[in-house]
Amino acid sequence: MAFEELLNDPVIQKYLHELVGPTGMPVAAAPPDGEVTDEELAEELGLELNDVRRALFILYENDLASYRRLRDEDSGWLTYLWTFEYESIPEQLESEMRRLLEALEQRRRYENENEFYLCGQCQIRFEFGEAMEFGFECPQCGSQLETMDNDRLIDAMEMRIEELGDELNVDTEPDIDGAIDA
Ligand SMILES: [Zn+2]
Repeated sequence: MAFEELLNDPVIQKYLHELVGPTGMPVAAAPPDGEVTDEELAEELGLELNDVRRALFILYENDLASYRRLRDEDSGWLTYLWTFEYESIPEQLESEMRRLLEALEQRRRYENENEFYLCGQCQIRFEFGEAMEFGFECPQCGSQLETMDNDRLIDAMEMRIEELGDELNVDTEPDIDGAIDA
């Protein structure tokens, strides 16, 4: 098996599992050295050919596998020879975490900079401006909108931001209280 060291990492296992799902996991978790056909994999792993192909295609779409086609001179049949390419997984994971971190920081800023109102009946949240437009009444049910505290949401995001920052070894933006344009 190739990439054994990478595949021992539970984070990488989880990443692959999210991509290919439980059915595709036997394919993704045991990449052979060198080239392999979908039929060989199906036989080796005791899986349906379609499931193997689906997993391979997902890996291909995510730049984790490549193939080359061979045509049999006599029968004209095409054979696909697959190569697993997991070298870039750590890099891919890191850029995914970076994207997530940026999105979280942006979201935290939005949560900090806005005031929110809630309809307790419908559990719908409104920004201050929207709530004002509706005269602080829920457009769905007519209930009075109430101010909503989002501190706990912000705290949770804060924790996740710090965790991601630690994992990525980067300094995260300090908490911004109130409306400050960066
Ligand atoms: Zn309502």
